[in-house]
Amino acid sequence: MLIFTTVQALKKYLKSQKQLRKKIGFVPTMGALHQGHISLIKQSLKRSQLTVCSIFVNPTQFNDPEDFKKYPITLESDINHLKKAGCHVLFAPSVKEIYPQGLSAKKSPDFGFLAETLEGEHRPGHFAGMAQVVERLLRITTPDLLFMGLKDYQQQLIVNELIKKKKLPVKLIACETRREKDGLAMSSRNVRLSPTDRKNALGLSKALKLAVKLYKSGKELSVVNDAVTAELKRNKAIGLEYFEIRNASTLKTPKRRNEKLVALIAAQVGGVRLIDNMHLN
Ligand code: AMP
Repeated sequence: MLIFTTVQALKKYLKSQKQLRKKIGFVPTMGALHQGHISLIKQSLKRSQLTVCSIFVNPTQFNDPEDFKKYPITLESDINHLKKAGCHVLFAPSVKEIYPQGLSAKKSPDFGFLAETLEGEHRPGHFAGMAQVVERLLRITTPDLLFMGLKDYQQQLIVNELIKKKKLPVKLIACETRREKDGLAMSSRNVRLSPTDRKNALGLSKALKLAVKLYKSGKELSVVNDAVTAELKRNKAIGLEYFEIRNASTLKTPKRRNEKLVALIAAQVGGVRLIDNMHLN
């Protein structure tokens, strides 16, 4: 696996690969890689000829400076995971390399409601920072295919909008959420959970599974919503930020139960902020 830390060297290499007409697949990450990330790498390996992974903990998308400080950094083990998976290129730039002009200018398109609701409400500025870095990384790596996880449901909808608004010549492939055997969605933040918190964190995927079950049994959306919210509130170890059933494309509150629906949840468990989601139909 080739490792690049500068934009210039990476661009030069990718230009040579493009001349060979290789289809480039790109997997942007913030490192602390787990099997969820590796599943994206594997998708990219299957569907393109050159897989580029980036590891960059983007300061502009953290609304909470403590969260940024505590974000796990495990570069050596990440490199081993990527090599084992067969990834071709790792791009691991410094903050200065990505933001030569400094961090202040946050330019990203206006995504309207899509970026204002849910995560947008609870993490002000997060999506502007995320869109800023994704656009920058896409312009550097010029991939044909971009692989992102449905785990960050709202993020992949917004990146799709970004691609449309900026007319970027790339196709987003949204990949299924990888889970631990017991159902917990894999996340870099899970390493910060104590054994007790790890058990409590299961409450999130359990709540989502309950929502799917109640919905499939024919219950009205308000009934599903109330039952799941009540169940979540019973568990005092879960600091619920939101549980919502929304239209899967617009994230608007659904008017009918036969729309394509997704249930989304965010909660604090033992001081760690976790998110998860599941389609209902
Ligand atoms: P992150 O490093 O958390 O920014 O995530 C990098 C990419 O991996 C994003 O597109 C995430 O949606 C995706 N991802 C994170 N966790 C999972 C998971 N459990 N399953 C599949 N993809 C994931």
